[in-house]
Amino acid sequence: MQITPIPCLTDNYAYIINDNNFKIVGVVDPSEASPVIDFLQQQNLRLDYILNTHHHFDHIGGNIELKKKYNAKIVGFNGDKHRIPDIDITLNDKEEWVFGNSQVKILHIPGHTLGHICFFFKKEKIAFTGDTLFSLGCGKIFEGDHEQLLRSLNKIKKLPGDTKIYCGHEYTYRNAEFCMKYDEDNISLKKRFEKIKKLRSNNLPTIPAILDDELRTNIFLRCDQDDLKIKLNMENQEDYRVFRKIRDLKDSF
Ligand code: ZN
Ligand code: FE
Repeated sequence: MQITPIPCLTDNYAYIINDNNFKIVGVVDPSEASPVIDFLQQQNLRLDYILNTHHHFDHIGGNIELKKKYNAKIVGFNGDKHRIPDIDITLNDKEEWVFGNSQVKILHIPGHTLGHICFFFKKEKIAFTGDTLFSLGCGKIFEGDHEQLLRSLNKIKKLPGDTKIYCGHEYTYRNAEFCMKYDEDNISLKKRFEKIKKLRSNNLPTIPAILDDELRTNIFLRCDQDDLKIKLNMENQEDYRVFRKIRDLKDSF
């Protein structure tokens, strides 16, 4: 299975999923159709499925044009069927859906939006996390609350450590700067920041991120760690309060 990031709009990624053996092709979160069509034509591929992590326009904007052109099926969360126009396949939390030869587990991860989901390809250990978990960051809270988003991130944290995380935006550099501001003596973070600088200076994607690296370096995933609580002067405080503090700091960063 091959995953290709397709840059869209200013900093979005759509991802082409190509199961070469079964000749099944999907795209995750196409914010616009034309860069996706360009890639499919170059590779001489058709499109079978459009997978949406949530209903925001920068994730579904290309749906209808792609559906018309390829007769592809739109796949998303059952709870968001009224907000994802022309949806064909509606999935529920914990449901398993089959893509070619792959079992895909659906995780409902609300907080950024109430109907946000993660597509987890079990055998391949690939997770599409949309705008919930970013590389070195997390999504803004638009519809849910902090406790909800923290619970959702904790679900993702329980996936296998070598899971590859494909998120909705290239925010990694700016996220790294933020993490460094509050966690600058984190050696794993420092090392990772150097790699990110190199990638971005060559205009290369920083995606996928590996979950284990995120656990060590993403400040939003470290709000349960005592050393970070101490750095934030929040020793012995509850995780969600620490999480809320970090989210507020990031919103004004
Ligand atoms: Zn969004
Ligand atoms: Fe987005």
